[in-house]
Amino acid sequence: MNRPLEVVIVGGGTAGWMTGAALSGVLKRTQCTVRLIESDAIGTVGVGEATLPQMREFNDLVGIVESEMMRRTNATFKLGIEFRDWGFVGSSYIHPFGAHGRAMGGVAFHHMWTRAKLAGHASNIEDYSYAIVASRRNRFDFPVDDVEAINSTYNYAYHFDAGLYAQYLRTFAEVRGLVRTEGQVQSVALDPLTENIANLRLESGETVKGDLFIDCSGFRGLLIDQALKGPFEDWTRWLPCDRALAVPTERVGDLAPYTRSTALEAGWQWRIPLQHRTGNGYVYSSAFISDDEAAARLMGALDAPALAEPKPIRFRSGRRTASWTKNCIAIGLASGFLEPLESTSIHLTQVAVMTLLRNFPEARIDPALADAFNRAVDNEYDRVRDFLILHYHANTRTDSALWRHCREMDVPDSLKEKMALFRHRGHVPQYRHGLFSAPSWLSVFLGQGVLPQAYHPMADNLPLEDVLAEMEAVRDSISRRVDAMPTHAQFVRDYCEGSEPLRAGGAA
Ligand code: FAD
Repeated sequence: MNRPLEVVIVGGGTAGWMTGAALSGVLKRTQCTVRLIESDAIGTVGVGEATLPQMREFNDLVGIVESEMMRRTNATFKLGIEFRDWGFVGSSYIHPFGAHGRAMGGVAFHHMWTRAKLAGHASNIEDYSYAIVASRRNRFDFPVDDVEAINSTYNYAYHFDAGLYAQYLRTFAEVRGLVRTEGQVQSVALDPLTENIANLRLESGETVKGDLFIDCSGFRGLLIDQALKGPFEDWTRWLPCDRALAVPTERVGDLAPYTRSTALEAGWQWRIPLQHRTGNGYVYSSAFISDDEAAARLMGALDAPALAEPKPIRFRSGRRTASWTKNCIAIGLASGFLEPLESTSIHLTQVAVMTLLRNFPEARIDPALADAFNRAVDNEYDRVRDFLILHYHANTRTDSALWRHCREMDVPDSLKEKMALFRHRGHVPQYRHGLFSAPSWLSVFLGQGVLPQAYHPMADNLPLEDVLAEMEAVRDSISRRVDAMPTHAQFVRDYCEGSEPLRAGGAA
């Protein structure tokens, strides 16, 4: 092909600008031109404040300077998610970004921990996780690179103002040649022969042609759904929440380096600490509570004065059967949504963008590229789905109909198998790439009360006294190290002001 591929992105939310910044940043203008159409009058979904550690790879790809991004988006650091009242009312566990302990004698730490427990030496597994101990004490510092050091065993992500992040990405994309058009797409014309998208008609009367159309229009799915009628796999039978109310509050108290998710009678409440405010919301199932009751429940559960009225949002958990259909690729909410429980949506956008870059087409779009893209994206969605269902299904709450329903519902066979293997002897899924890693599964299994009955036989290879001594050494070194870290609030302040944060020192 002699001319660059003309890419047209519809939508300027987080998904649209992530796609725009990556394509314009990575591909040469001789390979593609990028145009983004968005409508300020329609606006964005306006939520999505918590991220996963993989986002740092995306930011590096785009060329973002972390401290500047954090300053511009009022960001804080995130070491994991605390789940309150999920397994049972009164319970609390943290899903950390990082390992529990260190492998010993060739087996994962939790096998040694289980062995010690079954031998009468029970301890709290959270004490062996650097990220959890730092979270519980509201501390933050960067992990070190030295893999021998205990403070290399964790990772971090961000809480940020997603609207400001999208604006920030826009500055990168426009400098790199992306052309933005303000306006509404009013109709989509298909080629009668190929059924590809031929052009878009804007309210201004302009006709926009392109080779590849990226649908980042959010839940509307303007291209993939309304124009191409792409089927949607509805997973509400496993993930029953379908509405949310979002409300910001004043920032009060310590700046926690983690998201909090508190299970309520008909869903769960999020709490996301940013520099200037706290994001809150109630994600609930409309089959189990009315909108008015949900609003009253949320407002009554806030720990600080609200800064606005609660904003209602409706959604459906599931994904497109084929996010890449014809010459259209749906990315972001147009492609699917798995409710916000583990903050996976921006990550799934990132996966789609990176997968698109790997499979970027030439003038004639080879269906094999679309198949490869869809396989990769579907795989991520399916794994995340099982992980989220686990949170709902493995509960012992007896206080409300939603939790009884979730406990009794039939879950996918792929999840049944994972739960059986963990119960049998602590087996956790190990993925080379993608979500979620072994420590994530471990923390949620244990936190939700799914307990291993045995451990890997190799855990018997070391004398029990050696195992107990090593466990104690790990616990002690984490505790001492975390006490030497700055508070999260202090670290964020110093880092965003550009001064060198007070550090705990090197590896330990
Ligand atoms: P949107 O933000 O809806 O953007 C759609 C864009 O399309 C807008 O620019 C709009 O103007 C444009 N558009 C639509 N129609 C037209 C038209 N006709 N013409 C022109 N432009 C048009 N994700 C996380 O990773 N972490 C979280 O903590 C998290 N929390 C969430 C909580 C809730 C309750 C919900 C519902 C979602 C949450 N998400 C979270 C998901 C996150 O909000 C989205 O992944 C993210 O905002 C991307 O949205 P989007 O860009 O796909 O869609």
